[in-house]
Amino acid sequence: MTEIESNTAAGDAQIVVAIDGPAGSGKSSVAKQAARRLGFGYLDTGAAYRALAWHILARGADTSDSSDVLDASGDFDFAISTDPGDYWVRVGDVDVTEAIREPRVTDAVSGVARVPAIRQAVNGLFRQIMANAPRGIVVEGRDITTVVAPDAPVRLLLTAAPEVRAARRSAELTGHDVASVAAALSRRDASDSAVVDFLTAAPGVDVVDSTDLDFEQTVDAVLAVVDTKVGVRDGR
Ligand code: C5P
Repeated sequence: MTEIESNTAAGDAQIVVAIDGPAGSGKSSVAKQAARRLGFGYLDTGAAYRALAWHILARGADTSDSSDVLDASGDFDFAISTDPGDYWVRVGDVDVTEAIREPRVTDAVSGVARVPAIRQAVNGLFRQIMANAPRGIVVEGRDITTVVAPDAPVRLLLTAAPEVRAARRSAELTGHDVASVAAALSRRDASDSAVVDFLTAAPGVDVVDSTDLDFEQTVDAVLAVVDTKVGVRDGR
């Protein structure tokens, strides 16, 4: 696995806002918008696992075989933008920003994420990016509040009722009905939660439940926690 590239300049003291949550909780879009409003960087950790799954599939290897996964990680040339206004993900020269959202990648990603050596390697890369964030960075995933950045001054779990998560996900994916999306989502939740518990808040982690909130209200709720914890507000 090679280095992650960050397009933010190196700096000193920065604030890490750690956000975990299940698929369909709105985590990625909420974290990105919160980062924009705070003037912070944004790191989508799931993109690293997705990009590695994409890379393994591109080699025709098996994402459920941990030795195939480890082999493929040896020449995994991954780069990600941390600019919330210009998000992209690359593997080598290929822009995989869209491709890593394809259902075939989503179905394969849990196999990749369950390999401990892979988690250790990507966590090292995430910490390197966090250390280089100029002012602050919003980092979202499944184990950010517990493993990647347990000392972050702001730690949040973003949740939503399963039926609301499935409805949101199916609205994003054209040509998929809510029932099949709900089934895929609960399969992925079950598989992912065998690796890390992202459904219950660890001690000291604030919970934002977006079940009855719209997008902007959820972003506002996240920013209210940021303000309470570290006294940083957006420019509005
Ligand atoms: O957040 P997203 O749905 O893009 O994550 C894709 C997958 O990456 C998850 O289903 C999970 O298997 C894995 N993941 C993880 N730890 C993280 C972020 C994502 O295991 N911090």
